[in-house]
Amino acid sequence: MTIVEACRRLGISRGTATRWLKHGRLRGTKKHHCGAVCADPTACGHTAVWDITEDDVRQALAPSETGR
Ligand SMILES: [Zn+2]
Repeated sequence: MTIVEACRRLGISRGTATRWLKHGRLRGTKKHHCGAVCADPTACGHTAVWDITEDDVRQALAPSETGR
């Protein structure tokens, strides 16, 4: 799903979702507009599209094992 759909599911804003993705709180696959998967999402400054799976959303909702 897209980041917008994930936001709706998680009840968070897009800004929060982006932060979560960068910090690993929410997992997803960052893809460039050309379709290539981003090699280093934390360092990459390119505008890109996040692809988030159902599992990623469920894990973000679940009590964190990392202990925030
Ligand atoms: Zn990149």
